[in-house]
Amino acid sequence: LGQQIICNAEVTAVEMPDGNFKVLYTHNGKEKTLESQSLVITTGGLPIPKMGATDFALRFARNHQLNIIETAPALVPLTITGKDEDWYAHLSGNSVFCKVSNEKISFEENLLFTHWGLSGPAILQISSYWKPGEVFNLDLLPGKDISAIIETERKTNGKSLLSTIFNRLYPKKFTDALAKFLPIEKQVASLTKEELELIHKTIHLFKVKPAGDKGYDKAEVMRGGIDTNELSSKTLACKKIPNLYFGGECVDVTGWLGGYNFQWAWASGFVIAQNI
Ligand SMILES: Cc1cc2nc3c(=O)[nH]c(=O)nc-3n(C[C@H](O)[C@H](O)[C@H](O)COP(=O)(O)OP(=O)(O)OC[C@H]3O[C@@H](n4cnc5c(N)ncnc54)[C@H](O)[C@@H]3O)c2cc1C
Repeated sequence: LGQQIICNAEVTAVEMPDGNFKVLYTHNGKEKTLESQSLVITTGGLPIPKMGATDFALRFARNHQLNIIETAPALVPLTITGKDEDWYAHLSGNSVFCKVSNEKISFEENLLFTHWGLSGPAILQISSYWKPGEVFNLDLLPGKDISAIIETERKTNGKSLLSTIFNRLYPKKFTDALAKFLPIEKQVASLTKEELELIHKTIHLFKVKPAGDKGYDKAEVMRGGIDTNELSSKTLACKKIPNLYFGGECVDVTGWLGGYNFQWAWASGFVIAQNI
């Protein structure tokens, strides 16, 4: 079909003389140009600069007065600092199934404790809906009721320690760590009403206030990007600049874990190719 693929080239600028596109790029140390009637920009988002990520698309859009939805790392581990830092770090390597939620969304997935905070699918998912300063909740026993489990134990074996119940539900190290908040070495029959309430709240409504995220070096995707309102929803053509298209991660379309970001990159490329 006569296409030419130029690898290992860096586009440094795009000019638009007479309604055409003039692409300036460096290749093998030489500065070159090529001209075209149409241009597709799919230079991705900001995650992992070491792997070649650049802000080219965002910069180009900004320079041409296209609206950009605020960008931030997404599908990214979160950090914990301050008084709780040691508690989380001590649990590094342990994983717990949970329901993570905030006022926008919830996910049932594993969370992973790390020496700097939290990771694992539950945390990567909620990170896309989290902003610095916000708190989210962990239900550490989704689909079950810790109060009902304790009540049954109180009736059948009141001398059981709370830690015995927790050890059936969690890794031992996590049970031990819960001693910071709960009387885990107490017999279940002797737990007071206040203690039972505290146990319920701690297990089903564990509050987490991350200090920040691990940034674009560790993020799997960028949220935000070129406003979809700037593009035709049918062709992904830019409404303000004829014959210009944007696709993939530089556009404000962000997927959950599970291949949806690849899917968007490929699907948007397909749509543009049908319409160019
Ligand atoms: C570690 C990691 C794991 C991931 N895992 C998954 C996953 O499991 N499932 C999933 O769906 N998504 C995943 N993603 C996200 C997914 O890879 C991206 O959303 C997708 O690749 C975006 O495609 P794209 O074509 O828009 O951009 P990219 O794949 O980023 O491609 C853009 C290309 O443009 C190049 N470029 C940038 N600026 C210039 C310039 N000025 N000149 C020339 N070239 C330039 C870049 O070097 C890059 O090669 C992951 C991302 C990361 C970082």
